[in-house]
Amino acid sequence: MPKAGGTGTVCLTFDFDAMSLWIARGLASPGTLSRGEFGAHAVPRLLHLLESRGIPSTWFIPGHTADTYPELCRRVVDAGHEVGLHGYCHEQVSRLSRDAEWDMLRRANEVLTGLAGRPPVGHRTPTWDFTPHTVELLLELGVRYDSSLMATDYTPYYCRAGDEWPEDGPYRFGTETELAELPVSWSLDDYPYFEYVRTSSWIMPGLRTAGDVFGNFLDDVRYMVRDVDDGVCVITFHPQVIGRGHRLLGLERFVDEARDLGVEFARLDRVAEEFRNGRRYGTYRPEGG
Ligand SMILES: [Zn+2]
Repeated sequence: MPKAGGTGTVCLTFDFDAMSLWIARGLASPGTLSRGEFGAHAVPRLLHLLESRGIPSTWFIPGHTADTYPELCRRVVDAGHEVGLHGYCHEQVSRLSRDAEWDMLRRANEVLTGLAGRPPVGHRTPTWDFTPHTVELLLELGVRYDSSLMATDYTPYYCRAGDEWPEDGPYRFGTETELAELPVSWSLDDYPYFEYVRTSSWIMPGLRTAGDVFGNFLDDVRYMVRDVDDGVCVITFHPQVIGRGHRLLGLERFVDEARDLGVEFARLDRVAEEFRNGRRYGTYRPEGG
């Protein structure tokens, strides 16, 4: 039976962290900073790839990156891509006080407003986590959607505020707000798969084969197309990670094969607005079910 809604939507998102990622983690040194700098080197390749296939995308850009690479970030905007908030210097959000989080959001908002000529409507926390104040502060800032949480995969939902989790009783769900959530996943993020990071106390091995990684991504899209009505699949990339030759070839193949499955590519702001206007994305409807 043909599906009632669309075949599905894939959202390619790029977190252009550049050096801010390493600075925020206390891992800044000339070597690690150069890894961040590579992200800027790779941006033109990504813009070309997206343009060659006519794909709109969303870029989450820390204020620090926009201030460091204003012309490059302008090229992202001029190419028709959306820019969204991603902290000022890739802050570890869960450690911030309410005042510090607000100051950080306002500063980042000011930088991106200057970059794009209008305030951003989207937000992704640098560490994919919230404080108890994040939802309220984002709404106060005028943000319309977030893309940092993981409670669903193909189905946008509304963020709650005021959840409580006592250890001696059940989880208490807070109140649903107007902030739309377009969920992410570590399994749909290039960083843990590919990036090799070694410190004195831990190693992230990374360096997975591009074919394996994009095989996972494509299977998530295949499952969505088969069993979910009008689903949305958000995938996270980082220019400093995905910008290497073998990974770019993998990304090209992924885009072409996903398109062959009948999905369309969209910016997150468009998906968020359609969701807020009542489009029922992501209904579970298994084949033969
Ligand atoms: Zn980031």
